[in-house]
Amino acid sequence: MQRRKFLGLLSIGSAAAALGGAGAWRLSANNRVSAVIEDMPTSATEMSAAVQRMSGVAPDKLKYLQSFQAVDEETQLTRYLEKMNNFEYSHGEDVLLSETQRPLLVESFKRIDRVQSLVGHGNFNVLGFDDMLRYSRRNESVGAFTSQELEFLESLFFDDVERYGFYGEKVIDSLTAVVSSRDRIKVSRTGHFLFKGQSEEIYKKIRQDVGDSIVLTSGIRSIVKQTHLFLAKTIQSNGNLSLASRSLAPPGHSFHGIGDFDVGKVGFGAKNFTVDFSGTEEFRQLVDLGYLTIRYPEENLLGVRYEPWHIKVV
Ligand SMILES: [Zn+2]
Repeated sequence: MQRRKFLGLLSIGSAAAALGGAGAWRLSANNRVSAVIEDMPTSATEMSAAVQRMSGVAPDKLKYLQSFQAVDEETQLTRYLEKMNNFEYSHGEDVLLSETQRPLLVESFKRIDRVQSLVGHGNFNVLGFDDMLRYSRRNESVGAFTSQELEFLESLFFDDVERYGFYGEKVIDSLTAVVSSRDRIKVSRTGHFLFKGQSEEIYKKIRQDVGDSIVLTSGIRSIVKQTHLFLAKTIQSNGNLSLASRSLAPPGHSFHGIGDFDVGKVGFGAKNFTVDFSGTEEFRQLVDLGYLTIRYPEENLLGVRYEPWHIKVV
């Protein structure tokens, strides 16, 4: 893959994009962590605590991983399935961020989080990378990304994710890809967007067939949005990239970028992103009506946990 050198482009003004306009902006406290985290049952308090821990001293890798060594005698497949069934735990072969990357992870997450507070959660779902940089340069409440932060984000996007155990397809190759406003609709009262066409139609049919108790919980996610989620997950995983990628696709690998979406039960909150969702009446109806072709089924070999709330469109 051609490695895109966006650093050289930073001095050139990026094309203006109509993302809510100045009226939609709100200022935020400098260190607030908002943590609107789809696909993760996480509160802002838990996220803040994880940021704190991540800002401390890195664990000794050997000791940290030794406590999770799998039994040697088991076959690769058994070990893999065991790992995926225990996706929220660390395992011996997990890949961790380096000592120098740890502070960059925290700082770039906080900066992106401030961009989210600035543009609002809805607009942030579809914010492109160039626009994020523009907002950061122009707003003191965010502050421009440092060259080290940008190199870190770039290296994360172009990383060979198989090295940390994620085997899903890369669906967006360009860090600076944007979803045109012509190609998307905003779904009222959800703060989320869907692609026009198939995604929009399937969602409408689901609401018709299942009723008002089912709602869109995450639609289109730009590279920026997915990066924010992935950094949050990596912080919660104390710098363990493998652990993070078992429950959240790395940037560029999420099908939310090209049409898939998540649904949940109204009032079910963060539980919508846990296996508990598969115990709801709404889930049963989705299955009965044939909507659930699951992107990441149980015992999949893509390196991702079971996600019963994720609607495969593409
Ligand atoms: Zn999803």
